[in-house]
Amino acid sequence: MRWGLHPRGPGAAALAAARNLWVPPRLRCRPGWQGTTGRLLVRSVTGASNQLQSSNNGRYRDTVLLPQTSFPMKLLGQQQPDTELEIQQKCGFSELYSWQRERKAKTEFCLHDGPPYANGDPHVGHALNKVITEITSRQRGRQRERGGSGLPDPETMTQAESRGFNPLSHPGAPFEIFLNSFNRERECTSRGEQQAEGEAGSLLSVDLETGTCAHPLTPHKDSPLLPANHVTMTKGTGLVHTAPAHGMEDYSVASQHNLPTDCLVDEDGVFTDVAGPELQNKSVLEEGTDVVIKMLQASKHLLKEEKLVHSYPYDWRTKKPVVIRASKQWFVNITDIKATAKELLKKVKFIPGSALNAMVETMDRRPYWCISRQRVWGVPIPVFHHKTKDEFLINSQTTEHIIKLVEQHGSDVWWTLPPEQLLPEEVLSQVGGPDALEYAPGQDILDIWFDSGTSWSCVLPGTDQRADLYLEGKDQLGGWFQSSLLTSVAARKKAPFKTVVVHGFTLGEKGEKMSKSLGNVIDPDVVINGGQDPNKEPPYGADVLRWWVAESNVFTEVTISPSVLNAARDDISKLRNTLRFLLGNIAGFNPETDSVPVNDMYVIDQYMLHLLQDLANKITDAYKQYDFGKVVRLLRAFYTRELSSFYFSIIKDRLYCENADDPKRRSCQTALAETLDVVVRSVAPILPHLAEEVFQHIPYAKEPKSVFRTGWIRTSSIWKKPGLEEAIESTCAMRDSFLGSIPGKNAAEYKVTLVIEPGLLFEIIEMLQAEETSSTSQLNELMMASQTTLLSQEPRSTTTDVIERKGTFLINLEGGDIREESSYKVIVTPTTKEKCPRCWKYTAESPDALCPRCSEVVSGKSWTS
Ligand SMILES: [Zn+2]
Repeated sequence: MRWGLHPRGPGAAALAAARNLWVPPRLRCRPGWQGTTGRLLVRSVTGASNQLQSSNNGRYRDTVLLPQTSFPMKLLGQQQPDTELEIQQKCGFSELYSWQRERKAKTEFCLHDGPPYANGDPHVGHALNKVITEITSRQRGRQRERGGSGLPDPETMTQAESRGFNPLSHPGAPFEIFLNSFNRERECTSRGEQQAEGEAGSLLSVDLETGTCAHPLTPHKDSPLLPANHVTMTKGTGLVHTAPAHGMEDYSVASQHNLPTDCLVDEDGVFTDVAGPELQNKSVLEEGTDVVIKMLQASKHLLKEEKLVHSYPYDWRTKKPVVIRASKQWFVNITDIKATAKELLKKVKFIPGSALNAMVETMDRRPYWCISRQRVWGVPIPVFHHKTKDEFLINSQTTEHIIKLVEQHGSDVWWTLPPEQLLPEEVLSQVGGPDALEYAPGQDILDIWFDSGTSWSCVLPGTDQRADLYLEGKDQLGGWFQSSLLTSVAARKKAPFKTVVVHGFTLGEKGEKMSKSLGNVIDPDVVINGGQDPNKEPPYGADVLRWWVAESNVFTEVTISPSVLNAARDDISKLRNTLRFLLGNIAGFNPETDSVPVNDMYVIDQYMLHLLQDLANKITDAYKQYDFGKVVRLLRAFYTRELSSFYFSIIKDRLYCENADDPKRRSCQTALAETLDVVVRSVAPILPHLAEEVFQHIPYAKEPKSVFRTGWIRTSSIWKKPGLEEAIESTCAMRDSFLGSIPGKNAAEYKVTLVIEPGLLFEIIEMLQAEETSSTSQLNELMMASQTTLLSQEPRSTTTDVIERKGTFLINLEGGDIREESSYKVIVTPTTKEKCPRCWKYTAESPDALCPRCSEVVSGKSWTS
């Protein structure tokens, strides 16, 4: 038996067109339509069959097929995180990645995960990053690699260390490394310096531009007067002293005019011998300042002494003032690399697109890259310094030798081996043998961004590879994204990534920044497992946190608060109920033996498959664009509107009251099983725990498998039947007229007559109901009435007790090639039938008597013929 809409009656052009309805694709989809209003009305219907689930159905209760599942309706309080933990273990979450890698998929997707976090407990911003990473890797289901970094991860470090030298080792590599320039260092105060600056105007004998001034303490020393953009008349006297070794702007002015960068302060913040015997070994912060004042007094150059209060840089960790002083550092000249990098970035996809400009701007602001640091721990820079002269030694021979040693023994060799063993034989003989060696290994280490920035060389095999995706917060535009790009471009003229996804930061409820001092930092562990007071901080579970991330527009700043988390929990709760309905109604269904071929299914069931494949395509696309917010919106609209409010309210009678193996019921179950599969797979990357929990409850699964080990969404192209939209939507339009005429009433207590003028609309509707009047047709199921009569002419006699509504519907087929507007009339009268005690539809002939359908089902006869 088929319900696949067989047009009957006389052939006409319209009929031919109508027949085309059921032939695959071409039509546009019509999101929205009057759908929202129409389907909102559906919710108000108190259809008799809807009450079955909760009613005590008396003596017929056992003959009704109510949903059966052990899938819980709710997980309360601690149950949520507990269940999630259980599922993680049962479904092997921790082994999933190695399982994926073992399968050696032909095309691996490489998400190169960024460096781990430096210190402290993770906060919700970290959770944001990790959730996005997780959703992506679960959806892509293939490869994910963690980046190397300068942080204590022994395995990663070994690789990063030995490879970190590579760019340095290539002769002629485009890294121009040179010594001498600026870096911030040490903490000290410089009260003396400040005062000197404040008094500069009065100390100097002014002769602007070409003039010079005499030094107040050093006889015969002339200092030139120089113009500089950073000095203005609006601040102070318009004259400032310049200390080239103690500030970036001063250094620039001095470089421009070829002035020496003498630094009289050493690493400990005390004056060196060059400052003269009176100042040598005095701390610039403390006694040094007093000595300077005394010297000025003695030379009669001090006009006035007073304390000034002004802003000054402090070290955030030690809370001590900082002295800026010049120190020798290693720099990479990135001018050429930047030019190449900008060209290569044109082929990289940035999400959001604006991140590309932001990255180029940060790169433009950086003239050189300072890659050396003075720390106790890190990857050494393999340079040898002359013990007495200002000379250093590094070339391809020395570097190759160090690389071999590090590969064999690890990077500690730099600190543990004697210098003569760190140099190759050839170099030693050139300098006159080990005994004559006057070079010592340098003490500088590499910037950790250099370490983590070269992680691509370990993660991406071969010289040609680019990772499919780098995904980090916007702070990495000047950090890891950039150091990865610059090292990769320098070493192999390639960007290390094909796509860069950049997310924003998390903010508090009112958009305020989260910080420890404000006390508004949200701990993801508290969100998942709850705080000390479960009333104030309930355990939401990981899925709620994940849903919040997915739903947010992560490309801007993201807010988090209890109300946002509660809304996420409510969303998931509604989804859980939808899934429970699906699971409960596929009890006793075996897809292998009970499935109904698509073209034989009820039109409304086929329509659901049509919507499903459209949903699946859109969701797959949204995941590809990393637009998880869209995935959530699509899913939420589908399970609240299309499923709960619309489809489920229509099909309950068929599911509960027909024979278990009635093809009408099997048709519906076929659609439900497919719906369950698509919805669960769609949501699985975002809510892995819920998805796996559902999979454990699928009644026909012989051996429950993990949703993540059974592939992505599968739909069929034959599900696509855009013409069905015209049938369903036109019927819904007429049903809206019907329901609108009996506000607040039970539609099942009315019979409805549809009068449609002959034409396309009539032909379409006629396919849903072969008989003139029926209480069991597809049309009547959609109308949810006691019975439906379909006419092409006004009925001859009407009773007085009628309500009439008129309307029109525009049929739009073949992408607008076929358009026909038809008018219809809906005539509503109270039914004369009685309520069937089994199905509660108003289709029984007398009170307490079963309706014909129910009496056949109960008596065990097959109702279909
Ligand atoms: Zn009945």
